[in-house]
Amino acid sequence: MNSSRSKAGQSGAGHPNSAVTGLILAGGQGRRMGGVDKGLQMFRGQRLVDHVYARLAPQVGGIIINANQNYDAYKSFGVRVVSDAIGNFAGPLAGLHAGLSVSRRPFIASVPCDSPFLPEDLVERLMARLVASDADVAVAKTGNWLQPVFCLARRSVLEHLANFLKGGGRKVDAWYASLGIVEVNFDDCAEAFGNINTREELATFEGETIAPAVQFEYAAPVAAAHASAAVDNISPASGSPTMHITSGDALARAVSRDALAQVVSCMDDYDPNALKVEKAREAIRAFLSPVANNEKVAVRAALGRVLGEDIISTLDVPAHDNSAMDGYALRHADLKATGETELRLAGSAFAGRHFAGKMGKRECVRIMTGAVMPRGADTVVIQEIVQVEGDKIRIPAGQKKGQNRRLAGEDLSAGKPVLKAGQPVGPAELGLIASLGLAEVAVRRRLRVAFFSTGDELASVGSALKKGEVYDSNRYTLYGMLSRLGCDIIDMGVVRDDPASLENALKSAAADADVIITSGGVSVGEADFIRELLSKLGEVVFWKIAMKPGRPMAFGRIAHAGNEAHFFGLPGNPVAVMVTFYQFVRDALLALSGRTDNFALPLLRVPCTSSIKKSPGRTEFQRGLLTRDAGGQWSVCPTGAQGSGVLRSMAEANCFIVLEHERASVAPGETVQVQLFDGLT
Ligand code: AMP
Ligand code: MG
Repeated sequence: MNSSRSKAGQSGAGHPNSAVTGLILAGGQGRRMGGVDKGLQMFRGQRLVDHVYARLAPQVGGIIINANQNYDAYKSFGVRVVSDAIGNFAGPLAGLHAGLSVSRRPFIASVPCDSPFLPEDLVERLMARLVASDADVAVAKTGNWLQPVFCLARRSVLEHLANFLKGGGRKVDAWYASLGIVEVNFDDCAEAFGNINTREELATFEGETIAPAVQFEYAAPVAAAHASAAVDNISPASGSPTMHITSGDALARAVSRDALAQVVSCMDDYDPNALKVEKAREAIRAFLSPVANNEKVAVRAALGRVLGEDIISTLDVPAHDNSAMDGYALRHADLKATGETELRLAGSAFAGRHFAGKMGKRECVRIMTGAVMPRGADTVVIQEIVQVEGDKIRIPAGQKKGQNRRLAGEDLSAGKPVLKAGQPVGPAELGLIASLGLAEVAVRRRLRVAFFSTGDELASVGSALKKGEVYDSNRYTLYGMLSRLGCDIIDMGVVRDDPASLENALKSAAADADVIITSGGVSVGEADFIRELLSKLGEVVFWKIAMKPGRPMAFGRIAHAGNEAHFFGLPGNPVAVMVTFYQFVRDALLALSGRTDNFALPLLRVPCTSSIKKSPGRTEFQRGLLTRDAGGQWSVCPTGAQGSGVLRSMAEANCFIVLEHERASVAPGETVQVQLFDGLT
């Protein structure tokens, strides 16, 4: 795999082969995995198809995905997703046929969606042999085994394939036999064709503590996929959204930022060895510069993303005055000031079918909710209070002019901004965007966040614990917290406490990611060599924050291979990781991802039912349980053991009890501040 990687570097992300469409075959039923959609299974922090996409994208001019279910999930790349034209899950040839039918490039390279390690020079090597032997299809081979779905075919085989399928053929080998192919030897990287067919295989690969060399190889292409997000420019009728990615914001950031040392030196009351929580937040905030580049996505795919541009209404919504209730539309001036008024029924108006006639004097129109108000009508009287006798409608007194009428443009009015760049897109925003008839929307690109755990004592899940080892849980809490924030995550596994491994890991992450998060290794005693390393790679400050838990933390930025990344070195203790993440990293990531709304976590004030010991001089984040008593009164009490290693205290809690810096012990019944976990995205 290493040799294939270095070769791929030459033909990599910068020079996609524009003659080749990459086809990811994700149209199977995943039978051996229990009938799940294989491409969407999570593996090392990402879906299998994300890994495959990342490896294939730099090798080709554009990508098509063949899928027969979950189209929206596969469309998340902004590429064309095609389903089989024949049969019912008829196998890889049906997928190849579907891809060939829409691809416009002269060659197509197919790979299965469950091969996360596929060679990075696959296309290059297949192409060399295909051209040299003037064959129609080149197929990879390892040992005596053909890897039949790793193939490169000329577009011209489409007709042959269509006839083969029409004749009932379904087997790849049989088709190859009828065609004549060239086999291409990949014995030097046979393991790169390893695919994941069962849950057990998924778990086995997942559980491995990845040695640095492999780890980086796996981590690196994730960003490449996005940077090179080449989109196949297929048929003009294609409705699939394209990604518009511009580069260079890292550079812009580098130019526009002050040095960290300068930022902190301008702060009053800055003491790195006893830094107040608020001061640490201030320093971080001052040092961030958000991503600026946008990509276009289909409206649904914008959920949870950050708007990249203001959205200006092109329409009045609603387009016409309409009724808010079922009832009778009338002219208010026709109603008597006192007593009942009798009006003649002139017709009906339904939602989507307006009243086309004329509503004369002392007439009314039966109207349904959402129906356009008849010309001349200004008021709607609900049906429950009128008396109907044939076409005579009796309206009681006391109706207000304009009641139950929705005005045109009441929701949105043409030319006015509806949503602002920097706003998060939630369900309401999705609906608003759709109500303007927009099919696509510009959103900020996702933040790329790389993370790894450090420590010689860490074992990975799935392996037996040796004496002195603990399972690496931080990578899982970080995975959860980062996923909920909508980041593109690069899980780099465990890195041992040795300078060479750490340096490699940090460089690899800095080259790819916007943000790097590590856990462990920043406490006194360990900090020295990592401090030296980080100062070599960039600018990082080490803090002892006046807080509990989570005292040591490192923050800054490091650079490698022309890219810069913000760096957060979190403590190793599992609760400290979560607390520092929520108190510092969360806000930083939201700001970096382009959010401009007020995303600070709300603090609620409730009575605390028990006493809490505390001395002034640090902010404490106790884990608490907020509950409501029978009388409807809310109160909080701390949950069990509060040690910074006791992750159970987080799982048992539903909020942080935030005890301010100056505060001393809390007596039962005193008011405290709490921060709810719910909504902690
Ligand atoms: P450190 O900050 O590296 O000194 O680690 C502090 C404590 O947290 C030690 O007890 C570590 O074993 C523990 N720890 C560090 N990293 C992890 C991790 N990824 N998962 C679980 N515990 C960890
Ligand atoms: Mg450690």
